[in-house]
Parts: sequence; structure tokens; C-alpha cells
Amino acid sequence: MENHLHGLRELNSHAEKKRILVIATGGTIASRSGSDGLVPDIPLEQLLNYVPGIRGQCSLEAVQIMNLDSTNMQPSGWLTIAGTIRQRYEEFDGFVILHGTDTMAYTAAALSYLIQNSPKPVVLTGAQKPIDQDISDAKGNVIQSVLYACDDRASDVNFVFNGEVIAGTRGRKVRTKSFNAFSSVDFPHKAVIRENQVIHYIDSRLSGRVRFYDRLDEKVFVLRLIPGLRADILRYLGEYFHAVVIEGFGIGGIPNTEEMRFLPLIRELLDKGVTVVATTQVPLEGSDLDVYEVGRLFKRDERLLEAYNMTLEAIVTKLMWILGQTREHAQIRELFYRQINYDLYQ
Ligand code: ASP
Repeated sequence: MENHLHGLRELNSHAEKKRILVIATGGTIASRSGSDGLVPDIPLEQLLNYVPGIRGQCSLEAVQIMNLDSTNMQPSGWLTIAGTIRQRYEEFDGFVILHGTDTMAYTAAALSYLIQNSPKPVVLTGAQKPIDQDISDAKGNVIQSVLYACDDRASDVNFVFNGEVIAGTRGRKVRTKSFNAFSSVDFPHKAVIRENQVIHYIDSRLSGRVRFYDRLDEKVFVLRLIPGLRADILRYLGEYFHAVVIEGFGIGGIPNTEEMRFLPLIRELLDKGVTVVATTQVPLEGSDLDVYEVGRLFKRDERLLEAYNMTLEAIVTKLMWILGQTREHAQIRELFYRQINYDLYQ
């Protein structure tokens, strides 16, 4: 009896093979040595031949929509990726995006805002070493990404890298060489993958309908403070940018001395209708501008937004998404503090 059941399960699982769309965008995973260094060059079909097993795991289709070192990725590229998924959303059960690692955290965060509440998983992966090298993380990452994309309990936008599943707004590249290139910043892994098994730590199944967005405003600037920086720079930034993110010190300190007059100049920006967000340049644990006078002084102006524990990648792409929808302060504020794909918790 048990044997029969086993056979039946196999038959069923065969009949219900998940349909997965692999979307290639370039990156080291598809790179070969050219005369000037590594460059994305391996055709997608050839790349997939390195991992023949995945074709048995699911019903797989693959498209190459660009072939970039992700250094050259732009917001328009994020819209192209989101648009591809939108177009083919009904046809597939999950999506795996092959992407360079250098700006993958921006793309994953941007997709978290462009594709919201997706019950179907969208997975980003890549590699630190090209797939055709003897020692490479590429095969493992592709296989595990497809495995996760096929999982019934997977949803929303995620990284799958080095056996770890990270929410799309929480990842950051923290190593330039090693295979454990990404960290989940101030947030647990959603799942890990061990010996071809997905172990879920967070049950994040989503129901309801996916929401797609197709507008971004690129006029977002990040100003990393250094001791001695004059605040006058804000006047120049206010001429062109719609949002300025100020990466201050520690838990939340922005200078305001005779020489570094940030308080009046931030007020000028806010009066002009520029969105100003305060965050910290400390990598972990986020900001709380209420702790010190050098923070609270700025928080007195309620128009100043604070990013708390959001990653910089999430702050920047969330602002681009929000400003693509509205320039109205109350709406910007409401959307900025709305939690999306685990980007912010208080
Ligand atoms: N420069 C490469 C890229 O981001 C690095 C990588 O993929 O690991 O496209």
C-alpha cells in the first residue's frame, strides 16, 4: 500500500511540475575572460547546460532580456525585469532572475516595490565565480534558486544565495570574493536550503493578488556625511533631486554647528518640497534620532522622514517607487512608513 501511495505521489508531483521562467540579465555567473577582464558572455542555453538536473525538477523556460555586468544596471533595467514578469505572470509558478551580484541588492529591493504581494516567488541569484570555472558557486546557486522557486511555501521577492533565502529588501553584498557574499541585514533568513531541502524559518505565504507598478523617479540622492562636510551642498542637491537621503553618524546624528549648518539647509530643502530622509551609515541596527540632541533637533520638523532599520538599498528604491506615484508629502510619508516585503519594522 505504502509503495502504491509513494508511486501515486510521484505521479502527482510529476503531473504538477512547476512552471519556472528563468530570466537572464548577465553578471559574473555568465561571464568569461575577455581581453579586458571578465565580461558577461556565456549564452543562456549554454549556461543552463551546466545544470541539466533542473530541467527534470520543473518545466523550465528561459529568456535573456539583457546581458550586463550589473555595475551597468539602471532603474530602467529594473522596470524591464518587472515588466517581463508581469507579462508572463499567469504562465508561470515562479521566476528566477540571474543577475550580477554587485547591484543585486538594489534590484531585489526595487523589484520588492515594483512587484508587491506576489504569491508566486521571484528569486534573484548569481555567483561570485563564473559557471564555467572549476571552483564556482554558480551551479549550486542556480539549482537552489530553482528549488526554492518550486516550493509551495515560497512567495514574494527573495535572494537565494549560498544556501540562504533572504527577503528582497533585506540583502546586502558584504563580501567581494567569498561565496557567502550576502547578508540578511537586521532580519532573519526566510529559509535555508540544506541537502536539497528548503527549511522555512518564516512562513511568508501570501494570498490575494499581486500588484505591479511601472513608474520610478530616479531623482534620489544619497549624501554620506563626513566630519567637516559643509551643508551648502544641500542647496545644489535641491536644484535637481526630489529626495535626499542623509546618512548621518551613529544611532542618528547630523551636525549643526557654525560651519556645518545642516538644520537650516535641510529646512530649506523641505520648504522646496524635497523629501529628506535621515538614516545612519552604521551597517547594523538602524537609527533612532530621538536618542541624542544631535538627532532630535532635526526630528522636530515632522516633514523629515527617518529610515530606522531599512537598508540603504531599500530606502533608495522605495523612494524611487513612491516618487514615481506621488509628490504629495502626506502620501509620501504614508507609503514610506508602510511595511513592504519586511523592509521596515518598529
Ligand atoms: N561585476 C559582477 C556583476 O555584478 C559581479 C558578479 O556578478 O558577481 O555583474
